[in-house]
Amino acid sequence: VSAQVASPRTLDEALAALAAGATPLAGGTDLMVEHATGRTRLEDVVDLWRVDELRGITDEAGGLRLGALTTCTDLLRSQLARERADLLVHAAGECGAVQIQNRATLGGNLGTASPAADLVPAMMALGATVRLVSTGGARELPVADALTGYRATAREQGELFHSFHVPARPPGERRGMRKVGTRAAQAISKVVVALSVVVEHERVTALTAAAGAVAPRTVLLPTLEAELVGHAPSPERIARAARAAARDDASPIDDLRSTAAYRRLVLRNVLVTLLTDLTGAGS
Ligand SMILES: Cc1cc2nc3c(=O)[nH]c(=O)nc-3n(C[C@H](O)[C@H](O)[C@H](O)COP(=O)(O)OP(=O)(O)OC[C@H]3O[C@@H](n4cnc5c(N)ncnc54)[C@H](O)[C@@H]3O)c2cc1C
Repeated sequence: VSAQVASPRTLDEALAALAAGATPLAGGTDLMVEHATGRTRLEDVVDLWRVDELRGITDEAGGLRLGALTTCTDLLRSQLARERADLLVHAAGECGAVQIQNRATLGGNLGTASPAADLVPAMMALGATVRLVSTGGARELPVADALTGYRATAREQGELFHSFHVPARPPGERRGMRKVGTRAAQAISKVVVALSVVVEHERVTALTAAAGAVAPRTVLLPTLEAELVGHAPSPERIARAARAAARDDASPIDDLRSTAAYRRLVLRNVLVTLLTDLTGAGS
């Protein structure tokens, strides 16, 4: 199997190649595996690695702008990311081993749109948006809306994920994440949960939660939000909300890594643990 590979140095050149139908290649940690196994047939490839316009972690409106080529290692080394996008740094530390972390990018994690992706739920819990650019212009979408199905995104032919925006942290927001896999290192998630919550005057005033490997794509948990926002986070309320979310927001399958029933149970238990910890319920 062979493919034509273009290696542009500017965004404009990359977009021109994409407009002509080329497939974007970032770190290659997903795409090269798919190519080698024949799952994806590559003919024209545009290697983005030298396009520096797609790199960088910078301040934007008190939050962050992260280039699509930001790697897990970049995240782990960034003080700004630690301060403002702690969930994403946590997720980066859970992705594969060091070799993978050096190449795996944010844009590639969204591009593959695996239901078991780890960076995507972190971005969703942070309320992140993604900027898509093409020779025709740019648009910005919530990361949650960029996922349209199993391994499918809203990216159209000729478009590139350019960068991500993580909004400034709301006052009092607490965040947590938990990945459950077969073992601590190099395991694909059986269930992954990321959430952010604000408790004011003993009531939950805001909550965003995302879960992976429990549906065909990474999902937000609207039932959890509806059950908790406006209420005191008592242990009973948390247990009820977690049960309802595991029932109504998830649609897991049986596969070689786990059963659907196990995934629902783990989702529920992880939600209870995270929420109890983050809201101080019962203490
Ligand atoms: C051993 C191993 C362990 C792994 N462990 C984990 C893990 O623990 N957690 C996890 O989440 N993932 C894991 N992965 C999967 C993979 O590393 C991640 O999904 C990674 O973020 C993909 O990024 P990449 O830059 O390598 O993407 P690539 O392989 O370069 O591209 C992936 C897809 O995204 C598209 N794409 C890439 N960049 C862009 C862009 N800027 N705009 C539009 N489309 C784009 C490509 O066309 C392709 O379809 C693992 C992979 C391996 C091989």
